[in-house]
Amino acid sequence: MVAKKDLEEIPWERMGVKLSTPARTIKMLRPVCPETISLDTGNAAPGCETKFTGAWWLKCIAKGHNPYFQAMEVQHKLPVIEEKDGRKFIVGYTEEVELVETPRTTQVPLGPRFNSGQLLEEKKFFHGYRYPHEMGFHDMCEFRNCYQAEPGIKTRYGLYCSEDEAKMITADARHMVLEVFIPEKRQEQIDAINIV
Ligand SMILES: [Zn+2]
Ligand SMILES: [Zn+2]
Repeated sequence: MVAKKDLEEIPWERMGVKLSTPARTIKMLRPVCPETISLDTGNAAPGCETKFTGAWWLKCIAKGHNPYFQAMEVQHKLPVIEEKDGRKFIVGYTEEVELVETPRTTQVPLGPRFNSGQLLEEKKFFHGYRYPHEMGFHDMCEFRNCYQAEPGIKTRYGLYCSEDEAKMITADARHMVLEVFIPEKRQEQIDAINIV
């Protein structure tokens, strides 16, 4: 039996998760040829996307490019310390920029119902998107902007890392109208939602 390699967790930040506006997004890795990256800075260069037809990402990988990862610049500022008369002084700083390879994550919006899985298949076959687990990483929570790895709550409307997220998606899928003005009433409604 082949030993299953442990999946890694993608470093993430929980940015802008809004429970009050539930939306389901599937986190995937999106390929971009590194030669095209300069598009971000305004210096357009034709990358493998334009050089090849069809599954360009496979040809990009064959060329030795790494389209599913991006180099993030991490600044390190270190003080230069000198001693004078037994006292220590910072006389300047050295700056180094470390290049850290991180996976290119993106979120594909999905309706709460599972029949919209077709969009994911399209992204996979026509644009080379891959699920994190296909690249050795944990799949992530399906609440918009939440990238928590290994979400533990399984519902018919997706996988979530918290009960609150799962309940809000469920309420949305069932077209429930939640109380806006009376917090106690709203909480009662939320408590009563059964996650299935
Ligand atoms: Zn390439
Ligand atoms: Zn989550």
